[in-house]
Amino acid sequence: MGIPLLQQYRVGKYILGQKLRRNRRYPLVLMLEPLFQCNLACEGCGKIAHPDDILAQRMSAGECLDAVDECGAPVVSVAGGEPLLHKEMPEIVDGIIRRRKFVYLCTNALLATKRMKDYTPSPYLTFSIHLDGDRERHDASVCQEGVYDRATHAIRQLREQGFRVNINCTLFQGEDPQRARDFFDEATRLGVEGITVSPAFDYEGAKRHDIFMGIRTIKELFRDIFREGRGHKWPLSHSGLYLDFLAGNQSYECMPWGNPTRNLFGWQRPCYLHADGGYAATFRELMDETDWEQYGVGRHPKCENCMAHCGFEASAVEDTVRHPLKALKTALRGPRTEGPMVPDPPSAEPREAPGTVATVPVSAIGRVSRQES
Ligand code: SF4
Ligand code: SF4
Repeated sequence: MGIPLLQQYRVGKYILGQKLRRNRRYPLVLMLEPLFQCNLACEGCGKIAHPDDILAQRMSAGECLDAVDECGAPVVSVAGGEPLLHKEMPEIVDGIIRRRKFVYLCTNALLATKRMKDYTPSPYLTFSIHLDGDRERHDASVCQEGVYDRATHAIRQLREQGFRVNINCTLFQGEDPQRARDFFDEATRLGVEGITVSPAFDYEGAKRHDIFMGIRTIKELFRDIFREGRGHKWPLSHSGLYLDFLAGNQSYECMPWGNPTRNLFGWQRPCYLHADGGYAATFRELMDETDWEQYGVGRHPKCENCMAHCGFEASAVEDTVRHPLKALKTALRGPRTEGPMVPDPPSAEPREAPGTVATVPVSAIGRVSRQES
């Protein structure tokens, strides 16, 4: 169980309140990016590619907490850049916790050991450590040797100090299901309380596009991983129906308003994966004046092959509320790994042939555009 009961209760209550008020669109997780600067230099990263004057900028603690209040989501994911570089981060985290919101502090962990003294363990605070796989795969992903060892050392120290710790993991083309299984086993042994996993999104600025998976490949990979992991009890930090969606058993349209993004430029349209619609000045403007209908798989060319949790977890949660028995059944049996899949969503462009899995060397993984720590 990757999501604590207190959080499930509070989020469930929040969703019920939205339903009673008949709100069709509401935020679940605020993605807060108070800076783009980072202490790693993953080649092609979409954040550190900003010019130096932008990298030097920070959202102040006041601006961050105003965004939290404006948005009202019960969960806040603080990403970047590297959030632990922000001098006011302890004040920002403390302010979010004081509002009784759940904060996920996303970090590459290089500064975690040094900075953990600035934070106090709380059921509302989770360190979310970026780990894309085992030592070889993660170090290739972040373009630096030794980062995996430093990150796992930080995870152990954080756990010893009583902090909640998750890992967030992005999967790329050519992932080996058995290797992913072993990595999730290892993460579970490390004592992390949650594993967030998402297929990589094909950013426009990426230097290579052959390392991203098409929708059919994503579904087949997740079926293979779940089959390998049957009975392993990984603490996956997702709704059961989102995992079932990844395994090709549910059809969803994305709900990007469920994960609104606030960064140095404003409120990003339509989601943190791409800013095709520019930026809104206020959260209300984002929600009310964005033409949401033009975004989503099959509607917008940049959305092709997206199954990312930031767009579809909210859709799965919505389905859970509408069909609790289906959700319970799925949670009890786990994602289905056999039988026919739901049809792929429509596409404006021809997709890969079903079952096509190109092999990409691990050394190539770092040369991609990424969006988060
Ligand atoms: S399909 Fe993906 S990239 Fe497109 S709007 Fe939805 S979440 Fe964002
Ligand atoms: S991908 Fe993440 S860890 Fe790598 S440089 Fe960009 S923000 Fe930093």
